Amino acid sequence: MQKGKIGVTSENLFPIIKKFLYSDHDIFLREIVSNAVDATQKLKTLASKGEYNGDVTDAKVTISLNKKDKTITVSDNGIGMNAEEVEKYINQIAFSGANDFLEKYKDDANAIIGHFGLGFYSSFMVSDKVEVVSMSYKEGEKAVKWSCEGSPEYSLDEVERDSVGTDIIMHINEESKEFLEDNKISEILEKYCKFLPIPIVFGKKKDWKDGKEVETEEDNQINETAPAWTKKPVDLKDEDYKNFYRRLYPMSDEPLFNIHLNVDYPFNLTGILYFPKIKNNIEVQKNKIQLYCNQVFVTDSVEGIVPEFLTLLHGVLDSPDIPLNVSRSYLQSDGNVKKISSHISKKVSDKLKEIFKESRKELEEKWDDLKLFIQYGMLTDEKFYERSSDFFLLKNTEGKYFTTEEYEKLVKDNQTDKDKNLIYLYTNDKENQFSFVEAATAKGYDVLVLDDVLSTALINKLEQKDSTKKFVRVDSDIVENLIKKEDSGKVELTWEQKEDLSPVFQAVCPTESGTSFIVDFQDLGENASPMVITRNEFMRRMKEMSQIQGGMSFYGDMPENLNLVVNITHPLVRKVLDSKDKKLGNFVTEVNEELASRKGEKADLEKAKEGKKDEEIPQADKEKLEDVEKVISELEGKKRDKLSDFGRKNKIAKQMVDLALLANGMLKGEELDKFVKRSVDLIK
Ligand code: ADP
Repeated sequence: MQKGKIGVTSENLFPIIKKFLYSDHDIFLREIVSNAVDATQKLKTLASKGEYNGDVTDAKVTISLNKKDKTITVSDNGIGMNAEEVEKYINQIAFSGANDFLEKYKDDANAIIGHFGLGFYSSFMVSDKVEVVSMSYKEGEKAVKWSCEGSPEYSLDEVERDSVGTDIIMHINEESKEFLEDNKISEILEKYCKFLPIPIVFGKKKDWKDGKEVETEEDNQINETAPAWTKKPVDLKDEDYKNFYRRLYPMSDEPLFNIHLNVDYPFNLTGILYFPKIKNNIEVQKNKIQLYCNQVFVTDSVEGIVPEFLTLLHGVLDSPDIPLNVSRSYLQSDGNVKKISSHISKKVSDKLKEIFKESRKELEEKWDDLKLFIQYGMLTDEKFYERSSDFFLLKNTEGKYFTTEEYEKLVKDNQTDKDKNLIYLYTNDKENQFSFVEAATAKGYDVLVLDDVLSTALINKLEQKDSTKKFVRVDSDIVENLIKKEDSGKVELTWEQKEDLSPVFQAVCPTESGTSFIVDFQDLGENASPMVITRNEFMRRMKEMSQIQGGMSFYGDMPENLNLVVNITHPLVRKVLDSKDKKLGNFVTEVNEELASRKGEKADLEKAKEGKKDEEIPQADKEKLEDVEKVISELEGKKRDKLSDFGRKNKIAKQMVDLALLANGMLKGEELDKFVKRSVDLIK
């Protein structure tokens, strides 16, 4: 029996394995199993070159648990190792370069954990003792057994093994006894090994017999050795892609499209990416892509590895050029990873372009499920934004789809305003903004539907890119003002006239906190609605953005400001105004006359004050001014009170405001109930 010390460099390694690598103990099995897979593949290669004459058709890796002995054994019928090779590969090669690396990063546990290929020695994370029993494929070799108890001392013996291959026997330590459970091992194998290229066997298949679960003779192979992405696209049917998707995500809806990636220069990359249906909650959809390295699962959190928006895709990426066992920060700075990332982004846009060209109808049909993904890409990846003009679609209220170019052509003539801006009208809620959409379409305008969580951000982006295009929501103003053309010669009220009318309608606006109404008067024509509620586009968008982004709290905190636009030419409004004139006309005229003369007095007094210092103004004049101001404010108050009182008692005014509220989905609860009762009264 030979005894010895594992290569000098390993002195530092065991403590590191034990001390730092606590977080992800599961991976020991991945490492040991992938070594076994490598060994079997190597032997197959040798056999194919005629350098090995034995049988390689039954190549497989077997995992077995022995609960009594507390061991996990991973056996393969691969290439094997002789004493010399054990010496070379297990004792020394595993640590080559380790010393330098440890020296450099000795204060940075993360870098060590992250960078270090754990390989074979990760078995010591969970074992008190590890034995390697191996017989090389080379003729006339004796089998050897290496044994080590987690210290730099090891022993190497000659033993019997009846076939070529290797057993790694791990004596599981007390803290890791969870790994001696079948379920735990199955779970790890399913996670890391389900697509390995050589059959991985764990126990026997089970069957139900006489109400009991019994073992069959058949090996329980846990993996699929040739998963779809390793095949050629020509050999796969649509159904194969769908089946593979179901294998990956048994609980998910069917995907919309897939992309089969197959690159061999300047890096190696294969994979299948799927476009899932994306619902409004983007966060929960992220991180479904699984990253593999030669069919060994590495991670399913690809954030930082692929562009942000691509994390919304599902599927598999496999690249031997993505280093296994390295930390996220290392991956992000890796040159290959960056290239891969921009390549995928390009492939995704190519695919979308292809779909647009070859089956536009299909793209349109799936657009609503796809658009969040595409918009997310446009917002976060500049290159993708540029390419998006080839497939990005706008949908209008009739359900028709347009590219931005087509849409521009469609609306150019009718929706260019007097300042030469092209106005894109949109609704974010077709139902609730129905009357506005109606008004706009009746006027010959086209209205887009932009109704998802990213719409506001996208609109801002599109406007930023081209300042001659403006997006205006249909309810942000009355239809006449949505697109300002040359002046129209409509009836306009003077400031004073508006002042006298405003309290009448202000009195019937809802007063609950959070919203405030500004009453304005416009000539909308006899056939338009008597009243319209609009939301200022700028304020509303600022509020929405501040909700998405946080910060910008100034806008977020502002109460909602709504405009109540009263159509002064509508017969019902006229009726209210006439009745007001009848009832309060004389009063208002008198008050206004009185006010005019008082205001004149005030102006004179102020004029006399001009250019004088405070002490130069006679006390009597000062008092006079104060008195006049008081009278004016009293008169105005009196007038306002009367007008408000009139408004409050006017059923038609109230009814019209309620109708406008109703059209906006804002009339609820008690107010709605009152409205219904009042309506009945009015009809009676
Ligand atoms: P890596 O796999 O990154 O080279 P490891 O520490 O996992 O590092 O393994 C070191 C070497 O030991 C391998 O490269 C291989 O030559 C040898 N080895 C490990 N496991 C086996 C095995 N099951 N059969 C044959 N050789 C093996």
